[in-house]
Amino acid sequence: MASQLIGFQHHRSLARLVVALFAAFVLVSGASAGKTVVIDPGHGGRDNGAKWGGIAEKDLNLDVARRVEALLKERGIPVVMTRRSDAYVSLDSRAAVANRYKNSLFVSIHFNAVNNRSITGIETFYLSTRGSKLANSIQRRLAQRIHTRDRGTKKRHYSVLKKTRGVAVLVECGFISNGWERDRCAQSWYKNILAQEIANGIAAHWKYYK
Ligand SMILES: [Zn+2]
Repeated sequence: MASQLIGFQHHRSLARLVVALFAAFVLVSGASAGKTVVIDPGHGGRDNGAKWGGIAEKDLNLDVARRVEALLKERGIPVVMTRRSDAYVSLDSRAAVANRYKNSLFVSIHFNAVNNRSITGIETFYLSTRGSKLANSIQRRLAQRIHTRDRGTKKRHYSVLKKTRGVAVLVECGFISNGWERDRCAQSWYKNILAQEIANGIAAHWKYYK
């Protein structure tokens, strides 16, 4: 029993070493990799984001992000997610994921909320000039397809946009503080439309981004 246990532990430490070496390889090879799309579902874990009518923003963000990921992968575009579960991820860690890649297209996905419950619409934020092009590519498609207020693209010094070295944008997919917009944001068909137009906007920009 004792010798078996030692053997087992030996195997375990060997397995850990292999995992550690693999992780180091992925990290190093990732740093030199070419362009990659990084999808960032906002908030997560103890950070709910906005919460209205029993709907937490963090869940909507992850749901839409997963749909965008699937659509991009169907087109053969490499995608990395900053989180794949209901986990808390710091803003630094989110930017660090993007900064592993030489040319990253970072797209943070959020839903909005304000105290004035009559406010609706979709808007996309950027910081750099290159970011404004990706923001326009996404916002234009969302506004054409979706009947709501087109709040346009706006320059903002958001932390996550400042810390990412590649192209970075933040999409606010609608106001969950507005009952009408919240109801459809929670529907699968609507999340598919959001995801399709975000993916279309990314794919169109992807071709020109070097
Ligand atoms: Zn948010």
